[in-house]
Amino acid sequence: MPTIVTTAALPGRAPEILAAVGDVRSGPASGRLSREELLALVAGADVVASMLYDRVDDEFLDAVGPQLRGICNVAVGFDNIDLAACARRGVVVTNTPGVLDDATADLAFALILAARRRLGEGERLIRAGRPWAWGLDFMVGHDLRGGRLGIVGLGGIGSRVAARGRAFGMEIAYFSRGDSPHAAELEAIRLDLDELLATSDVLSLHSPLTPETQHLIGARELALMKPTATLVNTARGAVIDEPALAEALRDGVIANAGLDVFEHEPDVHPGLLELENVVLVPHIGSSTTETRDAMAELAADNAVAILRGEDPPTPVHPPAVD
Ligand code: NAP
Repeated sequence: MPTIVTTAALPGRAPEILAAVGDVRSGPASGRLSREELLALVAGADVVASMLYDRVDDEFLDAVGPQLRGICNVAVGFDNIDLAACARRGVVVTNTPGVLDDATADLAFALILAARRRLGEGERLIRAGRPWAWGLDFMVGHDLRGGRLGIVGLGGIGSRVAARGRAFGMEIAYFSRGDSPHAAELEAIRLDLDELLATSDVLSLHSPLTPETQHLIGARELALMKPTATLVNTARGAVIDEPALAEALRDGVIANAGLDVFEHEPDVHPGLLELENVVLVPHIGSSTTETRDAMAELAADNAVAILRGEDPPTPVHPPAVD
C-alpha cells in the first residue's frame, strides 16, 4: 500500500477516499506542526496533501524522499509550492480550483458591503456602549448601485464577485494579462491597471500571488484611486504593500478597505489595527463546511489519480524544467 500523508486532518469524505487506496497518516485537525514535526511527518510519503501554509521547497521534498509522486495542495493558490523544484523531481502538483469560487466570492462581497456601509465601525460603536442617534449625517456610507466594480483577475473567483456586483447594479471593469473568458456574459470591459484604479468605486483583488503581482498595489497605485473608493483583498496579502495601505487609509487617500488576507499572517500591520475604516477578517475566504469538504475531496481525488498513474482532475501546470 502506498503511503499518503495529509499535513492536517481532512474533513468530509476525503479520509475515506484516501484510506481505500493507501495507508494514511495525518497531521492535527487544528493548530500547526513545527517545521521539524512537519518534515518528520511527511518522510516516506508517496503523496502529500499539503496546506497553503506548508512551504513545499527543496528542503521539504528532500525530507519526503525520492519515492514522492504528488503534492496535492488543499487550496487553489499554490504560491507556497516551488513548482520548479517539484518539476525537476517529476513530482506532480495539484490544487483545488472551482469548488471554492462561490464561498470566496461571498466573503469578498461581504467585505465590500461591510466596508461600503461601515458595518465594523457600527458594531464597535454599539458594543462599546457609546452614545448614538439616527441622523441625516450619521454613519453615511456609499451606494453600490451605479458604481464601477473593478476586478483584478477576472478568473474563477473574480468572475463570481463580478456576477454578484452585477446583481447589485454595478458596472464591471477588469485588469488581467489576457482577455477573460467570463468578460462577455458580465459585459465587463478590460482596462489597464492605472485606468482601472482611477475609475473604480470598488476594487477587488483576485489574482494569484506571483513575482509579478507581489505589491501590485502600493503607494503609487493607491494614490491613483478615488478618495471615495473601497479596496478589498481576498487574494493573498502580499499583493498589497500593507504599510502603504495603512498610510493611505489613515490619510484618506482612499475611503476604506476590507481585508481577508495579510502579508505576514497571522500578523497584521499595527497601523491597520488602529483604523476605523478597514474591515479585518482572519483568512476565512473558503471557510464554509461545504466548501472545505469539497476542497479536501478534490485533493483526495487528485491523490488517488496520481497513485493510479492517471491524469489528476486539477493539475497545476509545471514551469519548464531548468
Ligand atoms: P484563477 O481562476 O486562476 O484566476 C486568476 C485570475 O488572475 C485570472 O483571471 C488571471 O488572468 C489573473 N492573473 C494572473 N496573473 C495576473 C497578473 N500578473 N496580473 C493580473 N492578473 C493576473 O484563480 P482563482 O481560483 O480565481 O483564485 C485566485 C486567487 O485567490 C488564488 O490564487 C488564491 O491566492 C486566492 N484565494 C484566496 C482565498 C481566501 O481564502 N481568501 C480562497 C481562494 C483563493 P490572466 O492569466 O489573463 O492574467
